[in-house]
This record gives sequence, structure tokens and C-alpha cells, in this order.
Amino acid sequence: MRILLASSELHPYSKTGGLADMAAALAKFLAQARQKVGVVTPLYEGIEERHPEIRRSDMRIVLPLGPASVAADVWTLPLNDRLTIYFIDQPEFYRRPSPYQDNGVDYPDNDERFIFLSKCVAYLARYLPWKPEIVHVHDWHVALSTLFIHHQKQREGWRNAPRTCLTIHNISFQGDFPAASYQLTNLPPDYFGPDGAEFYGRFNCLKAGLCFADMITTVSPRYAQEITTELFGWRLEGVLRHRQAKLVGILNGVDYDEWDPARDPFLEHHFTAADLRSKTDNKLALQTESGLPVSADIPLFGTITRLADQKGVDIQLAALEEMLATNLQFVLLGSGAPEYEEAYRDLARRYPSKVAATTSYDHALAHRVEAGCDFYLMPSRFEPCGLNQLYSLRYGTIPIVRATGGLVDSVIDITEDRNRANGIKFYEYSPRALANAIRKALALYAEPELLSHFRLNAMTADFSWRRATEEYLNVYRTLLNR
Ligand code: ADP
Repeated sequence: MRILLASSELHPYSKTGGLADMAAALAKFLAQARQKVGVVTPLYEGIEERHPEIRRSDMRIVLPLGPASVAADVWTLPLNDRLTIYFIDQPEFYRRPSPYQDNGVDYPDNDERFIFLSKCVAYLARYLPWKPEIVHVHDWHVALSTLFIHHQKQREGWRNAPRTCLTIHNISFQGDFPAASYQLTNLPPDYFGPDGAEFYGRFNCLKAGLCFADMITTVSPRYAQEITTELFGWRLEGVLRHRQAKLVGILNGVDYDEWDPARDPFLEHHFTAADLRSKTDNKLALQTESGLPVSADIPLFGTITRLADQKGVDIQLAALEEMLATNLQFVLLGSGAPEYEEAYRDLARRYPSKVAATTSYDHALAHRVEAGCDFYLMPSRFEPCGLNQLYSLRYGTIPIVRATGGLVDSVIDITEDRNRANGIKFYEYSPRALANAIRKALALYAEPELLSHFRLNAMTADFSWRRATEEYLNVYRTLLNR
């Protein structure tokens, strides 16, 4: 099959969250499964300097954007003979230090930036010489590509146009703009209605994608159910119920080439499920690095996260206030909302021997936190898939999760299955419920044999991309009637 993926972020070139990891891994594993794959993504500031192997190609795209005409160069990086990355170089739009925001505030021209990106995706789908059969776009930033392809197929005579698939990584991000932004699409007005891009009088990029994609997927089976309900659908539940026959949930995999404690290049001490002694060395190293008292006996909890409401920051801060009276340590690696960053720094100042907070983005430290902690806290309000609980499992770091979305599908509590238990789940979204879950973790820590049982289950659980890749290939086969 010939598959063109598109994502506004792509590891290791750009990343703000799990979308970057997923898009990169899906591309890599589809290519390993012998498919022809391309990925379209913006050329942000700094990528060219960090990756001098990326080259400007002779492809130049010139497209209307409302009344203007906008030009972009395409830079390419062939990673192997099956996989090529196409970077869209439109310096005014993309050569900025971060993909979406400046100091926590969305760029005011995100409508132009991502409508243009979506147009480039449709353009490449049409004119790349290898003629993609499937165009698989991720999240709202490129969701409109499905409408552009639909339009060119239905009204501009594009024969043999590719089939389209849209994956929702987080339905709370929709690309919702004033109705006036619709004119930037240069499409006829009739797509701007209840069955198209219009949403409560505004222009909604994700909704347009949901209406025009041939297939819709999301990143876990549980989240696929949840988003059809009022509680989790962010007002798009009706649209999704309407298209439910075309909606599938596929749990993300983990790229174990990148996240494997036996050969992680960011760790000094490597370990396996069969020999966990070096996990303790990682713990001592993390305590030292974090400026905490160094002791193998103190249970060490950790979290790596965007600091946003979604991630349960409020209940986590409150539960920690309560639980810091007990003998435990907590390491945070997180960045995002300035008030949450400050709240964690304040906690660390008040409990210097118990809490360490790094409020920046640090990929290497993320690996060391996964390796060094005993427990991983993930009290999300909602969580489409979640990757850190999957990384934690592989690193023998027991995840403590709220039962929502992909966390339901990947963590097994002892009350569900004693033999296969690999984590701790709690249900109610409250500091009390999280504090109780932390108490359960402390009880587990005091029972080394049971803890070893959990760790072994965690580390041997298989969330490899092999399964997820096969599920995506099945979606593509359905689309192509194969
Ligand atoms: P989301 O995409 O909602 O942010 P996921 O759990 O799917 O959540 O993915 C988060 C990804 O981003 C993980 O790979 C995680 O390690 C990484 N990450 C988040 N915050 C940081 C940070 N401050 N430093 C390093 N990595 C981070």
C-alpha cells in the first residue's frame, strides 16, 4: 500500500505530546511492514539546524489562502527506501520556536497556518509521483485535508483520489475559529453548514474532518466509546454518533526501540525484567540528580506531563499535600500552564526533602524519571490513550491511573485480575480517591513479593507497534476494499 501520513508534530523533529510519538512510530512500523510511506509535517524553527541531513527539494507549492497566494518549499528526508518525510517550509508560518503557542497563548494566525498545511497535504496527495492510495491525517491541524480531497474528487474531477482516514488524538483540541476564517479555505460556501465545517456558527476544522473522512479512528477502544457521550465528546458527540459505523479505537503502541530499559541510551544503568537490581541504581541516580535524600527504601513517585487541566493537576496537587506527611518522595517533570508550574515549584520549595519539580521540557530526563521511579502517577480527567503509563509498565514503574480512556485499556488493577495485575486504578476524580490510590501503592511497596509480581507483569506486557500497525493496515484494507 502507498500511505501518506500528516501530523503537525513528529518525533524527533518536533513534539509537544504523544501525537509526535505516535505519528513517528506509525510511519516507522508501517514502513517496516513493507508499505510505502510518506509523512507531511511543518519545518519549524531549529529543525534544519538540528537535522542537517534534511534537504530542500525542487518541489514548490503555491496555493491560494483566502485572497492571498502563499508559497512553500518542500524539504525531504528519505529515512529508508520505504519512508520519506516531507517538511513544509513556509518560514512566516512555521519558523517559530514552538508549534502552536507563544507563552501559553495560541498564535493568532493558527487558522491560516493549519488551513495552509492541510492544503499542502491535499496537494502532495495529488501530485506526489508515487500516488498515495491512503491519506491518514492526525488531529485538527490537518483534518481539513479530508475536505479538500473530497472537494477535488467530487467537483474538480480528481480521478483515483486516495481514501482518507482521520485519527483523533484528543477531541478537546478542535481548531475552532470565527466563521470568517472559512474564507481562507477558498471552498464554496455549501460545505459551511451543519453537515460540514460549521459548528455553532463558527468554523471547526476537526468537525469538517469528521464529516468528510472516509474513516475515523481514535487512540484507544475505550476513548472511541467515551467520545460519543456528552461527558467526553466536547460537543462533537452527536457528529460522532452519526458516524459511529466508521469510528474505530486502536490503542497506540510503544516504540520499544526508544523505550527499553535494557538499552536506553539515556540511562547509565540498564535492567531487564529478569534482573531488576539496576533499577535501584537508576532510582539512586534520579534522587541525586533531583537533589532529594538518596535512599533505596523511600518509595519514589513520578509524573511527566503537559501541565494542563486534562492531566488532573488539581487533584494531584491536593492529594500530594495530604500524602507528603508520609514517607515518600515525588519527582515532577512538566511544563505548560504557568500557574501549575508555579504550584509545583512552590510545593518543592515547601518540601525540599520530598518533592523535586523540573518545569521544562526534557526528553532525556523523561527517560530517567521512567527508569528511576517506583510508581508513576497519572490522575487524568480524560486520557485518549496516554503513553507514559505504557512506558512506565516497560520500566517496571507501577502506574497509578484514573480509570478513563486508554488508561482503562492498558492498566490492570488487582481487583480486576490478581494474576495479571500491573498497576493501580482509581475511579472518582477527587484528591481523596487519588490519595487512597497512593496509600495502596505504599502498602504494595511494603510487600516486596507482591511488588515483584506487579513489576514482572508490567515489564512483560506487550504494547508493541506490531499489533497496532496490523490494526491500521486492516482499516486501510477496508477503505481500499481489499
Ligand atoms: P499528551 O499527548 O496528552 O501530552 P501522552 O501521554 O499521550 O500525553 O504523551 C505525552 C508525551 O510527551 C510522552 O512521550 C511524555 O514523555 C512527553 N512529555 C510530556 N511532558 C514532557 C516534559 N515536560 N518533558 C519531556 N517529555 C514530556
